[in-house]
Amino acid sequence: MTVEHTLTEEIHKGTKGGIIGCGFDTTLHSNHWVSVSAEITCDKNGCKN
Ligand SMILES: [Zn+2]
Repeated sequence: MTVEHTLTEEIHKGTKGGIIGCGFDTTLHSNHWVSVSAEITCDKNGCKN
């Protein structure tokens, strides 16, 4: 599963409503996140690995 951060258009590993691979909690600004099925573009540890 992947989620997009709509402000940066970065794709992260994880699911909306949870904590993504690089550690951000998507419940804090849940309107900034959408569930997508796309290649991960975040290059932080936890998302790219
Ligand atoms: Zn990430």
